[in-house]
Amino acid sequence: MSAFNHITHYAALGENKLVGSRCSACGKTFYPARPMCPACYGSALEAVEFSGKGKLAAYSVIYIAPTAMIQAGFDRKNPYCAAVVELEEGPRICAQLVGVDVKQPESIRIGQPVQATFLQRGEGESARTFLAFQP
Ligand SMILES: [Zn+2]
Repeated sequence: MSAFNHITHYAALGENKLVGSRCSACGKTFYPARPMCPACYGSALEAVEFSGKGKLAAYSVIYIAPTAMIQAGFDRKNPYCAAVVELEEGPRICAQLVGVDVKQPESIRIGQPVQATFLQRGEGESARTFLAFQP
C-alpha cells in the first residue's frame, strides 16, 4: 500500500494531476486521497489518477472572500464562483469554477460538464498550484 499525505497530494497537483485513491475492497474512489476507506473501513487503497471530467453539482458566487482568495485578488467587486463538482469517477470536489460569468450566475447551469484546470498563484518560493474547474 502506498502512503498518502499532503505532500503527495500537492506534488500531484504541481504536476497538474488529479490523484485520489480507490478502495481495492469496495471500489469506491476518493479525492483527496484517504488512507482508509470510510465506506467499508478497508485500508487497502491504491492511488488513482482521475480524468478531471465531471459535472457541476452545486455552485455559489462568493462576494465575501476568505483570506487566501482575497490575496488572489477576489473581493466584493471581483467575486468568484465556488463549485461542487462530481467527477465522472464518483468523488465530489469543492473547487473554484473559472471561465463562467459570475456577474450572470443564471448562465451557470447545474449538471453542465466541466473539466479540471490547474491555476498557478504566487511567485517563486510561494508559487502554488490550485485545482479549479472550467466548462
Ligand atoms: Zn472500501
